Amino acid sequence: MAELDDYRADTRSWLDENCPQSLRAGGGGSLYGITGGKKFNPKNPDERVWLERGAEKGLTAPTWPTEYGGGGLSKEQNKILLQCMRELKTPPPLVGFGLTMIGPTLLQYGNDAQKAEHLPNIVQGKIRWCQGYSEPGAGSDLAGLQCRAVEDGDEYVINGSKIWTSNADEADWIFCLVRTDPDAKKQEGITFLLIDMEQPGVTVRPIPLISGSSPFCETFFDDARAHQRNVIHKKNAGWTVAKALLGHERTMIADAFGVGGGGSRLSLADRARKYLPESADGRVSDAALRSEIAQMEIDSKAFGLTVQRSKDAAKAGHQPGPESSMFKVYGTELNMARHELMVRIAGPQALGWEGEGFEDEELQLTRDWLRTRGNSIEGGTSEVQRNIIAKRVLGLPD
Ligand SMILES: Cc1cc2nc3c(=O)[nH]c(=O)nc-3n(C[C@H](O)[C@H](O)[C@H](O)COP(=O)(O)OP(=O)(O)OC[C@H]3O[C@@H](n4cnc5c(N)ncnc54)[C@H](O)[C@@H]3O)c2cc1C
Repeated sequence: MAELDDYRADTRSWLDENCPQSLRAGGGGSLYGITGGKKFNPKNPDERVWLERGAEKGLTAPTWPTEYGGGGLSKEQNKILLQCMRELKTPPPLVGFGLTMIGPTLLQYGNDAQKAEHLPNIVQGKIRWCQGYSEPGAGSDLAGLQCRAVEDGDEYVINGSKIWTSNADEADWIFCLVRTDPDAKKQEGITFLLIDMEQPGVTVRPIPLISGSSPFCETFFDDARAHQRNVIHKKNAGWTVAKALLGHERTMIADAFGVGGGGSRLSLADRARKYLPESADGRVSDAALRSEIAQMEIDSKAFGLTVQRSKDAAKAGHQPGPESSMFKVYGTELNMARHELMVRIAGPQALGWEGEGFEDEELQLTRDWLRTRGNSIEGGTSEVQRNIIAKRVLGLPD
């Protein structure tokens, strides 16, 4: 206990000395976090300072092994770190698919050389990753993917396309599912391959969204190349790696959306105080709404604790299995319901698109709300997750 108390005191004082003032109290940072990568160009230069200091201290990947630049923290220490960061309301020094998806997958399936090559670049925020799973004809039926990779000496030559590749236009590398044996059963002819995006054979085209932004893209491979050392696990055994990564992805989506409430910064209670008349005692006067807000906060808290329990189990060696599908369904539904509630509270102020009469935060709420429509689709749709839960958790017949 005394050791943990010391750790808390050290962490508080380190954060106080090192976290830039402009990023505290929820202010001044990019809405969707510090993403790193070669194209990272934050409006607030303090984000880069925070990334560099956090990486040097191992706090970008607090629980990863120190040999790759992680913090090597125990789960108890990590909880304390997160608590201390919450106290300061500071953003994590780094976010992204490197930390939440490909990193954990490499720790599980990568060989020593692959870990040594890629994990430090992730931890230091030098390389940003995107995910090349979905194709125009392969979404829910992911194993039907057609993007081909053919061996040519030490390399693979890749031809085909991916779709809905989030942030491909800002990513440096892509982790990709490619077909390496077209004659095998469909799950058995797939390889998990890492591909450098900075080469002539890779073209990225952003897709505009209803929310007004274009976070995802089409990605085309025309004789693109990847060295064979970038095959994770084994040739034609990519489906196993793909499923492991999906477990990490679904837990991450549930965690990010279900607990934190997506990118929006005002709490429900603060929002209600801002837009709705208060009673003399400072409470939201509408009792029904008050109870809805309380229920949402209770559900979020309970869900957060459940996800934390699963993360603790993962730390102890239990990799996420089909339960990540339950988290994904519940977490994303919670996030969508939270945004509906926020829009209801803000009323017409939540329906602005641009121009005067709306605060920046209100315009962002409109876009965040529209963005939540994708929550039940990304990382595998809710229908598909329910199929997995039915079969693999409840044991129901096909
Ligand atoms: C915001 C967002 C970000 C994304 N980011 C990425 C990314 O970075 N990389 C990436 O590779 N992909 C990404 N995707 C793609 C995502 O994984 C796919 O959209 C998803 O898997 C569904 O595939 P699909 O769009 O082809 O729909 P389809 O598979 O065509 O499904 C259409 C409808 O049919 C239903 N359906 C299909 N099969 C079944 C079944 N067996 N039982 C019941 N219902 C079924 C689905 O639930 C859905 O409602 C992203 C998607 C979104 C929305």
